[in-house]
Amino acid sequence: MSTPFVVPAPRAPAVAVAGSDARFPVHRIYCVGRNYLDHVKEMGGDPAREPPLFFTKPADAIVPSDTPVAYPPRTSNLHHEIELVVAIGRGGRDIAVPDALGHVFGYAVGNDLTRRDLQAAAKKQGGPWDAAKGFDASAPITPIRPVTDIGHVASGRIWLEVNGDLRQQSDIAEMIWSVPEVIAELSTYFELQPGDLIFTGTPAGVGALLPGDRVAGGVDGVATLQHGIVAT
Ligand code: MN
Repeated sequence: MSTPFVVPAPRAPAVAVAGSDARFPVHRIYCVGRNYLDHVKEMGGDPAREPPLFFTKPADAIVPSDTPVAYPPRTSNLHHEIELVVAIGRGGRDIAVPDALGHVFGYAVGNDLTRRDLQAAAKKQGGPWDAAKGFDASAPITPIRPVTDIGHVASGRIWLEVNGDLRQQSDIAEMIWSVPEVIAELSTYFELQPGDLIFTGTPAGVGALLPGDRVAGGVDGVATLQHGIVAT
């Protein structure tokens, strides 16, 4: 019998794996900011190639595709950000770019839901992004497609529709920092672990979501994410 806990132990967050009954246990969620030039420009950023900006979400922020997301509290400007997600299968630190893809278990598609008003306030005040990015249910995600099924993802259309209207569209090849470069750089800050997810950034076209909206988005050849936004 295991040692008891003094309060109920949280359930370990996990993501479905396409074509498997086994699940991917989520250790941490890392996110890359400003990784598509057109999105850097729309956010008023410097188009010079700066080192990737990293932030995190809690592991239990994940929501499976086709699950409604409640409109979060303390915002009046919830934004969608469709992103390619990398699932790390083998950990490491100071990973070299040429070795980086060997650490990838698979790929998924996620929506980096953002309280844009709180993010703008945090930027202005030099404050942390946690409340803007790391709130409950802020990381809808599709099942993971293993590399053994689809190989690695270096190009392919990335897109998002709200109520059938196209809002975001670009190509994975347009990322400023490629997947191997992101893994290499991130692993100099944090020791990567099996179970880590990396949201790799969003292209231009981010915008507001409202209760009643239907979100569909994907990366061609990887997966399609769908979820509604519902009133609380
Ligand atoms: Mn993002």
